[in-house]
Amino acid sequence: MTVYPRYLELYETGELEHRVRRAVDSLESCRTCPWECAVNRLEDETKVCRIGRYARVTSCFPHRGEEPPIRGWNGSGTIFFAGCNLRCVFCQNYSISHVVSGNETPPESLAAMMISLQKQGCHNINFVTPEHVVPQILEALPPAIERGLRIPIVYNTSGYDSPESLSLLDGIVDLYMPDFKYWSPDTAKRYLKCRDYPRAAREALCEMHRQVGDLEMDDRGIARSGLLIRHLVMPDALEDTRRIMAFIARELSPGTYVNIMAQYHPAGEITEEKYPELNRRLTRSEWKSAVSAAEEAGLHRFDGV
Ligand code: SF4
Repeated sequence: MTVYPRYLELYETGELEHRVRRAVDSLESCRTCPWECAVNRLEDETKVCRIGRYARVTSCFPHRGEEPPIRGWNGSGTIFFAGCNLRCVFCQNYSISHVVSGNETPPESLAAMMISLQKQGCHNINFVTPEHVVPQILEALPPAIERGLRIPIVYNTSGYDSPESLSLLDGIVDLYMPDFKYWSPDTAKRYLKCRDYPRAAREALCEMHRQVGDLEMDDRGIARSGLLIRHLVMPDALEDTRRIMAFIARELSPGTYVNIMAQYHPAGEITEEKYPELNRRLTRSEWKSAVSAAEEAGLHRFDGV
């Protein structure tokens, strides 16, 4: 029988300590995400994500705006990391993702944040934009567990994750909450500045589903384990949406929980001059077509926020 949260078992067997060492050592030539920059982050060198030895945290609070099974009634214990390994021109968190912000947060401080969120009654610890700080998250877990951490971990990611990072997280993360943004390498290049994103995201989602399966709730309706995918529907990108929905139903499971999000609004670098096609909100008919694409693909657990 699986014990939740899953990291407790790895802590008891000593495997967690082993993973922490492996993860921290890997920072010497960083391949934490698919960019494989190979800079020495132990010496505070930085590259694409702009984050060195320690994670930087911009905020930490009980988030009551996440999906119902994640936020419950007391909120999801959200820790927002600064920096990002993508450069989405429409980023809705541009001021924390595209510039170095927040406070440098060594492991003991990160552990203290987790304990504080648990004490506030949060249902889980929700790491937002964690792809580039997986070693730093792992490093903070043993002190957090020693101080009493017992709630599940949510890994809330863009989906641009490396196989190595996901193997380090296997048996530690209870809930994966990835985005799947664009299907086509050309659109990914234009809007995320990363042609490789669709390939890496497909592989990452398959691995996440292999690890945790479909979303499962406990008897209170709170998510206990599994995969929850978010898809922000973008203007003029229905073909990407169709292909993403078909992929999820075919390669993962028709029972995958998908949040089809309609709240896109122009932000970040979007201007009429640079990206006129993204300089508007989504239309009602575009969103309905996205929902129809999910239904036609055979998905039956989705909602729109
Ligand atoms: S985590 Fe940062 S430094 Fe490491 S490979 Fe990714 S972008 Fe490069």
